Amino acid sequence: MKITTHSTKETQKFGKSLGQKYKGKPTLITLAGDLGAGKTTFTQGLMLGLGISQKGLSPTFLISREYQIPQTEQIFYHLDLYRFEHDFDTINSGIQELLDNPKDIVLIEWSERLGEKIPSRAIQITITRTGENEREIEVND
Ligand code: ADP
Ligand code: MG
Repeated sequence: MKITTHSTKETQKFGKSLGQKYKGKPTLITLAGDLGAGKTTFTQGLMLGLGISQKGLSPTFLISREYQIPQTEQIFYHLDLYRFEHDFDTINSGIQELLDNPKDIVLIEWSERLGEKIPSRAIQITITRTGENEREIEVND
C-alpha cells in the first residue's frame, strides 16, 4: 500500500489509524527514511492510536524507550537506531530479542541499520519526502 500525505497532521493521523489497527496484536514495524522524512511524526501518531499518553519507562538499553499500552498486557518498544553503525552486533545490543518478540509491539526507526536482519514478519514502512509538506508512505505488510 502506498499513500501520500500533505501535512504533519495527516501523517500523524495515518500513524494513529495503524496504531488502532495493531493494538493488542504482536507487531513488528520497521521505519525507513531519511532524516526529517517523518518517522518520529508517524510514531507519535501510532502511539496515540495505541492509547499511550504517559511518559516512557526507564529504557532497557540506551536506544529503546518502552511504554505500557493501556487496556492490554503489551509493551510498546520504540527504538531509534540512528546512532548505530551499519555492522553492529544485534545480539549484543539486545535487539535480536526484540526482533523475535512474540507478544508486544516493537517499532524501529532507522531500520536500514538492520540490513538483512529484518525478519520477514515485519511490517516495513518507508517514508519519502516528496515536497515541503508532502510525504509518500509505503507500507509493505
Ligand atoms: P524523522 O524522525 O524521520 O527524522 P521527524 O518526524 O522528526 O522525521 O521530522 C519530520 C519533519 O517534517 C517535522 O518537522 C514535520 O513537521 C515535517 N513535515 C512536513 N510535512 C510533513 C508530512 N506530510 N508528514 C510528516 N512530517 C512532515
Ligand atoms: Mg526520528
